[in-house]
Amino acid sequence: MNDPSEASREAASPSFECVVMKFGGTSVEDAAAVRRLCRLVARPSPQRPVVVVSALAKVTDQLMNAGGAAAAGHLDSAREILQVLYRRHETVASGLVKGDERSRLFRQFADDFKALDKMVLRIASEKALIPRMQDSLLGAGESLSSILVQSALQAAGVDATLVDARECIVTDAAHTRATPLWDETNKRLQAIVLPSLEAGQVPVMGGFVGATRDGIPTTLGRGGSDFSASIVGAGLHASRIEIWTDVDGILTTDPNLCPDARRVARMSFDEAADLAYFGAKVLHPATLLPAVRSNIPVWVLNSRNPECPGTEIVAFCEPADGVKAITAKRGVAIVDVEPVRWFAPELLREVFDVFERHQHSLDLLSASRGSLSLLVSSVSGLPAIAEELKGMANVRWENHKALVCLVGEQVRRRPEIASQAFRAIGDIEVRMICQGASERNIGFLVDESRAEGAVQRLHRAFFSNSEPAVANTSQAMCQAEGAWL
Ligand code: ADP
Ligand code: ASP
Ligand code: MG
Repeated sequence: MNDPSEASREAASPSFECVVMKFGGTSVEDAAAVRRLCRLVARPSPQRPVVVVSALAKVTDQLMNAGGAAAAGHLDSAREILQVLYRRHETVASGLVKGDERSRLFRQFADDFKALDKMVLRIASEKALIPRMQDSLLGAGESLSSILVQSALQAAGVDATLVDARECIVTDAAHTRATPLWDETNKRLQAIVLPSLEAGQVPVMGGFVGATRDGIPTTLGRGGSDFSASIVGAGLHASRIEIWTDVDGILTTDPNLCPDARRVARMSFDEAADLAYFGAKVLHPATLLPAVRSNIPVWVLNSRNPECPGTEIVAFCEPADGVKAITAKRGVAIVDVEPVRWFAPELLREVFDVFERHQHSLDLLSASRGSLSLLVSSVSGLPAIAEELKGMANVRWENHKALVCLVGEQVRRRPEIASQAFRAIGDIEVRMICQGASERNIGFLVDESRAEGAVQRLHRAFFSNSEPAVANTSQAMCQAEGAWL
């Protein structure tokens, strides 16, 4: 069984309510941030908190750089990166923990960095950073932050207890993008985390990481601590899942593109899932799945501005609004598959099979009478795929595209939304419009270099009163004949 809802139905419900509080990298980036976290966790609440933490901001990237440097034969640079990380963890801890507890924590850091040093030596000797090793290396970031946060909470008077996420989140062996084995994971969460909660303790665990049944460390994909939070929330029947981050909630678009992006007060699970899937970094795309199945509300909140009510994500919300938010998914390629003779249903099956054999995921698909168009996030496997389809179909692709999406429950039902969007970006060449299969979004495939401009104009069109400056709306776009799935 690999369904979070089925597995969680089997588990016993605790007699108290709990809330999962997940803190992202910027919410644990330094001593001041960890102090804010401690204040939030210690706030009086009718629900018992379970804390899930990311690695300190940028640590995962730096561990990745260390691994890459070691694999490329630059062992000294790899070790230098580890030294910088070691010092940073000690500095942050020094501002939070004193006396014997600090010595204990420093000894733990020393052991962990010794293990990391061994790992980079091994990577250097193998001259490669294989996925399994990458998972062990990157997961160390969350392990370090969780021990630091647990100590900081203790020092702040909270009875926090460390839980090793690798003992609770059981996954398949798909290294770097593992999927939880729900049944096993829920049982372990109930067996390991519940007793601490019952004893009135605050469990603290690292996000992002898991392990196979055999105990081999895995990770859930970059940004995966959000997913961890909702896995834990579903497994423990939490009454809510809080994602504490560095912005006031889900905003109408990426604030880096539009500084005037506004907070969205309420969204449906589906809207938020679409937003995450189509590129909004604020949530990992898989986050909503366990929450939806167990119907647990998710809140996105700002750890630097905790008084702000944030965004509430719930099963249903009034579909009154048109566009809720705008996203851009970069690094997309469009793949055209043209049958050599005619379009037969077998071709569709063959294409799916070939992509699956090459473990190449498809983001979107559009089938029309004469051809098939696919959107993919990576082109690395495409030459081999084209080779396999030779004789059946010709495969061509163009990369450096971006999919700009308007998301909102009623987007498709309201034709004025599409026309307003066309007016806003009419002079930007749109390679494809993706509309039809989903009620909730319309996507425009544009050159990556035009994505930022397209988002800004659309944001102005939908979220401010001033009309966007637009020219040449008649330069219309090429729309696929079929529906996008
Ligand atoms: P964390 O480290 O807390 O997991 P992330 O960096 O992964 O935080 O996600 C938060 C960031 O997501 C924000 O700082 C913002 O730059 C970016 N972001 C992109 N799109 C959106 C959006 N629609 N709403 C809010 N934030 C967004
Ligand atoms: N630390 C991991 C990453 O940066 C997971 C996360 O922060 O969600 O990808
Ligand atoms: Mg994140």
